[in-house]
Amino acid sequence: MTTGEDASVKKMAELLRQGATLLAQACPQCGSPLLKVGEDIYCATCDRRIVIVKSDDEVDAQAVKLMLPKLHETLLNKLKFLNEVIEREDNVEELTKLANLMILLLQAIERLHGLSENE
Ligand SMILES: [Zn+2]
Repeated sequence: MTTGEDASVKKMAELLRQGATLLAQACPQCGSPLLKVGEDIYCATCDRRIVIVKSDDEVDAQAVKLMLPKLHETLLNKLKFLNEVIEREDNVEELTKLANLMILLLQAIERLHGLSENE
């Protein structure tokens, strides 16, 4: 047994003592049994948190979640730009379109907030 493996076994034992539970799943990186520490899944051998993705839906949800801050920023920038356009616009028909667009952007931002609060 190498020193690295030795350390990981010790680490695992220590975490188990602290109340971690051993999972049936193995680490996708090294094949060691994974530990559940609080809400986190942890690999003692890799010495890092493991994110286990169960289905395509979850992959999508995670990808979307990672995109949220950027998406939010983009929407805010568009809203700012739209505000400037509206300020310059005097045509009622154009204004109606722009106002509708603004409402859509605001709704999108509101929904983003809802998504990030679900976490
Ligand atoms: Zn591992």
